[in-house]
Amino acid sequence: MTFNRCFCNRCMCQFVPPEVTANLAKAGVETAQISARASNQQRNRRKNKIVNLSTLTPSAKVGHAMRKIYDSQHEWEQRVELVRSEGDPVNSDLVVNKVYDYVGIVRDFFKKVLNRDSIDNSGMDLVLNVHFGQKYLNAFWDGDEMTFGDGDGEIFVGFADSLDVVAHELAHGVTQFTAGLEYKDQSGALNESFSDVFGTAITQFANQETADTADWLIGDEIMGPRLYGEALRSMKEPGTAYSNSLMGKDSQPSHMKDYYSGPKDNGGVHINSGIPNKAFYLTSMDIGTDKAVLIWYTALQRLTPTTDFNTAVAALVDSARLLVREGQVPCGSPQVVRAAFKAVGLPTV
Ligand SMILES: [Zn+2]
Repeated sequence: MTFNRCFCNRCMCQFVPPEVTANLAKAGVETAQISARASNQQRNRRKNKIVNLSTLTPSAKVGHAMRKIYDSQHEWEQRVELVRSEGDPVNSDLVVNKVYDYVGIVRDFFKKVLNRDSIDNSGMDLVLNVHFGQKYLNAFWDGDEMTFGDGDGEIFVGFADSLDVVAHELAHGVTQFTAGLEYKDQSGALNESFSDVFGTAITQFANQETADTADWLIGDEIMGPRLYGEALRSMKEPGTAYSNSLMGKDSQPSHMKDYYSGPKDNGGVHINSGIPNKAFYLTSMDIGTDKAVLIWYTALQRLTPTTDFNTAVAALVDSARLLVREGQVPCGSPQVVRAAFKAVGLPTV
């Protein structure tokens, strides 16, 4: 009954973290103020949706991992008009086609590389909404579908036009149907980190990059002309992705000594994710991203909703050991994972 887990965690991941949206709003970016209000409304709607969806559980599992793209037509609503379904010919709207292709890449990666049948491993259909709202500066996964704003063309540009964004958000769905990591504190930071891990692994896979040649940046593709050259996160050097008068400064730590323990961002889910992100980067540099992501995916299936950093490290090392035995990763992989986490100050005891 993994599907039930879907409704008891509280993840409504927005690609642009609330801290960045708040800083933009403070700096007078009107579209950020509107986007923040819209995101809050959406979060409240999600609470109702959870109640309603729980009655639909039996039919919700039936699917063939078909892609269904809806056009919100700039309304603040989901599933307004179905514009492209699986196998339909190319649409006149380039955004629809881009998101259709990107979702296909993500679905194929999980199937071919990780042997997972869609988000829930039972062929769940993939529902996506584009052109949500007006100049909406975000994208989100809210439990059963993905929704993308167009951006305002100045601060952020089209969210559906980025494989990073699509892969990161769909990966939240995978986490929801496996570990179900609660979206707060350390389990929330792990939830965020796993999305960055899959997002970057899928982007490298699609672009035929390696750990050496990849930029390890998250969100660089959505930066508009006023933020050009910045990104939301760097897995290679957490804390260095951006620094400007509009977004503020990247506050991600890359080591436990700088761990954020305050209340904002659900206990720093987009902040402390920098720590496990860096460990994934270090592991990938040693054994390759393709091997590292196998270890991370195997471990994800062994975690529980309240797993903390220390427990996750133990599960990752165990998973590396298991995969060595199966001949899927190099012999020294458990030691590599252990050293990568030691370099970021984990485990703490
Ligand atoms: Zn996220």
